[in-house]
Amino acid sequence: MNWQEYQDAVGELYIQMNEFGIVKKNITIPDKVTGQPRQVDVWWELNLGGHIFKILIDAKKRKDKIDVKDIEEIIMLAESVNADKAIIVTNSEWTEPAERKAIHTGLDLRMFTIDEATDLIVEDKWLMCQVCMEDCVVLDNDGFLPIGGIINWWLGGTCGTCKSVYVNCQGCGGKAIINNEATWICNCSLEWSVFENQIFVESTDEEVEKDSRDIPYKDENQLEIEFPEI
Ligand SMILES: [Zn+2]
Ligand SMILES: [Zn+2]
Repeated sequence: MNWQEYQDAVGELYIQMNEFGIVKKNITIPDKVTGQPRQVDVWWELNLGGHIFKILIDAKKRKDKIDVKDIEEIIMLAESVNADKAIIVTNSEWTEPAERKAIHTGLDLRMFTIDEATDLIVEDKWLMCQVCMEDCVVLDNDGFLPIGGIINWWLGGTCGTCKSVYVNCQGCGGKAIINNEATWICNCSLEWSVFENQIFVESTDEEVEKDSRDIPYKDENQLEIEFPEI
């Protein structure tokens, strides 16, 4: 991807972000400690269920990999302007220590390639957590399970605050919240569980798979949720 292509893709991403949030460019925000103005290139405000999440976006065009120093700079800026989350979008890759630094910061900092960001920063993948009502869940996990020649796609995401796991089975359209204790069987008789923050999905019954749409999946222990309309 050359400079112009990357530039265009980032521009498209901002348009996409603006469809379900507010994108502000080149703004200054007072530093929470000193009160001095801090320059922010892109600031994204997302209103989910009446709660506004403030997200610092940093688009980095690089020849070299993103390193720990880059991560530290973003964390410091994000903290001084009171961002809830920070996202680095890059044309490049990142070093392993940079990734570790990003994961272990108190702030929710994510790094995406431009393609990953374009795929993920869409309205139906960002939800207010209905368990803790404090954090925004991003459906950034996906996978597939081939059953009887049919590929079952799924989407999932974890609340950074309460660790509830949201799963969305594309096969039956079933959606549920699970955690370390509660598993869920969806309409295509797949059993969904979580272990060490990983989502596991397996088929429970080979016979019923063929008529899966007739199987009720209601489990009284599960909290049913309404995902926002697309
Ligand atoms: Zn939560
Ligand atoms: Zn299903």
